[in-house]
Amino acid sequence: MTKTQYAIVTLGSHSALQILRGAKDEGFKTLVVTLRNREEFYKRFKFIDQIETIDSFAEFPQLEKKLIKQKTILIPHGSFVAYLGIEKNKTMKVDYFGNKKVLDWEEDRNKQTQWLKTADIRMPEQYKSIKGAKFPVIVKSFGAAGGTGYFLAKNSRDFNQKVKSIGKKKYVIQRYITGATLYIHYFYSPITEKLEIMSMDRRYETNADGLGRIPAWIQQEVEIQPSYVVIGNSNLVLRESMLPEAYEMRERIVAASKKLINQRGIFGPFCLETIITPEMKFYAIEISARIVAGTNLFTHGSAYSWLNYDEPMSTGRRIAREIKMAIKKNKLKEILD
Ligand code: AMP
Ligand code: AMP
Repeated sequence: MTKTQYAIVTLGSHSALQILRGAKDEGFKTLVVTLRNREEFYKRFKFIDQIETIDSFAEFPQLEKKLIKQKTILIPHGSFVAYLGIEKNKTMKVDYFGNKKVLDWEEDRNKQTQWLKTADIRMPEQYKSIKGAKFPVIVKSFGAAGGTGYFLAKNSRDFNQKVKSIGKKKYVIQRYITGATLYIHYFYSPITEKLEIMSMDRRYETNADGLGRIPAWIQQEVEIQPSYVVIGNSNLVLRESMLPEAYEMRERIVAASKKLINQRGIFGPFCLETIITPEMKFYAIEISARIVAGTNLFTHGSAYSWLNYDEPMSTGRRIAREIKMAIKKNKLKEILD
C-alpha cells in the first residue's frame, strides 16, 4: 500500500485550505466537498485535486459511497460538528481521522469539566446558583456556538434581568477571568507516542475585542453587550518560562482522556483555550478536540513547529504526516474511526 492510493478529504470551510495544502505537501491526493457557491473559490488553489459540490452541508453523507470508493480519509474540523451535528459525525462511514468517542466529551460541558479536572487543569469557578458568585460572571447557554448566547453580569440584579433572555435553555455560570487569552495547539501522535506544541493563537472576538476602542464614558452611556463571535486570529508566543507548564498540561489531558474516554483517548490535534491572569496562572475555559482554525495562521509552520522540524510544518501537514507514517507501519486502523 502506498500513500498515493489514499485521498484526503474535508469540508470546504474552517481550516480546509491548510489541511489540504498539508496533505498535498505529504503526497496525498486532495479532495474538498463544498457548497456550490464556494466552488469557484476552491478552484483557485492548485493543491486541491478534486472538488465535489453540495447544496447544503447536511447533504454531505450522500457523498459517502463515492468517497469510500475513492479510498478517502476524512479530516474533521470545526464545521463538522457545527453544521452536521454530533450524531451525523458518529454515523459517518468514511474513514475518519480521530477518535469519535471524544466527540461526546467535547460536546457536553459537564463532561469537559470532568475531563479537565481529572487532568488537574485549573478552570474558572463554576457556580450552581448566582448566590455566592464572585463578579463579574460570564453566563454561557448550552449549545451556544461561536460565543453568541453568552452574557456578562456585574451583580445578582444584572444577572436576574439578563438571564430571562436565555429562556428555558440550560446554562453555566462561570467567574469571568480577566487576563490574556491564549489558545494552545497541540498534537499527540499515537504512532510515535510524542506530544508536540504546534502553535498558539489569540482570537479576535468582535465586539468584545472592539469595545476597548471606545472610551469608557461612551461604553457606560450606551451599554453595549460584549459578543465573542470570532472573526480572525492573531499570533502570540508565550513567555518562555511559562512554556514548561503548557507542555505539562497537555500530557495530563492525554493521560486523563485515556482513563475517562477509552484506551485510545485523544490523539491528533487538539487545543486548550486558556486565559492567563497577572499571577501567570493558566485558566482553561474549553478544550477543542480537533484542529482549530487558529492553526490557519501557521500554514508555513510556527515558531514552535520550527523547533521540531527543519521544514514548514502546519497542523494540517502534521495530520497528513501522521497518516503517512501509519500507512508505512501498517497501523492505519489505530488512527481512524
Ligand atoms: P466556519 O467554517 O467559518 O463557518 O466555522 C465553523 C465553526 O468553527 C464555527 O463554529 C466557528 O465559530 C468556528 N470557527 C471558524 N473560524 C474560526 C476561527 N478563526 N477561530 C475560532 N473558531 C473558528
Ligand atoms: P468559549 O465558547 O468557551 O470558547 O468562549 C468564547 C469566548 O468567551 C472566549 O474566547 C473568551 O474570550 C470568553 N470567555 C469564555 N469564558 C470566559 C471566562 N470564564 N472568563 C473570561 N472570558 C471568557
